[in-house]
Amino acid sequence: MNTHVTRRADPHIDAQGWLSNATRLPSPNFEARPGDAAPTLIVVHNISLPPDDFTTNAIADFFLNTLDHDAHPYFDQLRGMRVSAHFVIRRDGAVQQFVSCDERAWHAGVSSFCGRERCNDFSIGIELEGSDRVPFEDAQYDALAALVRMIVKRYPIDALAGHSDIAPGRKTDPGPHFDWLRLRHDSALPPSFFPFQSNI
Ligand SMILES: [Zn+2]
Repeated sequence: MNTHVTRRADPHIDAQGWLSNATRLPSPNFEARPGDAAPTLIVVHNISLPPDDFTTNAIADFFLNTLDHDAHPYFDQLRGMRVSAHFVIRRDGAVQQFVSCDERAWHAGVSSFCGRERCNDFSIGIELEGSDRVPFEDAQYDALAALVRMIVKRYPIDALAGHSDIAPGRKTDPGPHFDWLRLRHDSALPPSFFPFQSNI
């Protein structure tokens, strides 16, 4: 009788910067971080393509440079854009990863965190499938908190910010529906990790 039981490792960020239990969709839209420095910031976004439509696979197509720009009028303005985020959390809580956390993804654009510009250099970008107009799903908060905990375990992260915090006037996501207090509770991180949230 074989009594040996192989325990599956708990979900984690592996040695190459990939989440062990995410769907991997490697995007070509990345580059090395300057000096290969470890990330210290997590940036939370929202995205939906087309806006407010949560039924398509267009976000993944967009990040993989395979979007059919003729499939919807909104997509026309995305022609030629090369962007990516490390992670996308879909409405059902499923996590997709496009870029290793060790690499520099192209999610924040022109941005500044505490006087430090080019946030892509030192951040990990997480996109919640959603918009500024509707609440996020419970499953998304659960997946986000678990993901944040795993990232904090692996990298010297000391802050979380919304895209609107690091690109004010230019970006509005993750928007008014995003519940930072809930994320703080669920991730069990101290208030100091949330420098932009005064009510935490
Ligand atoms: Zn954003």
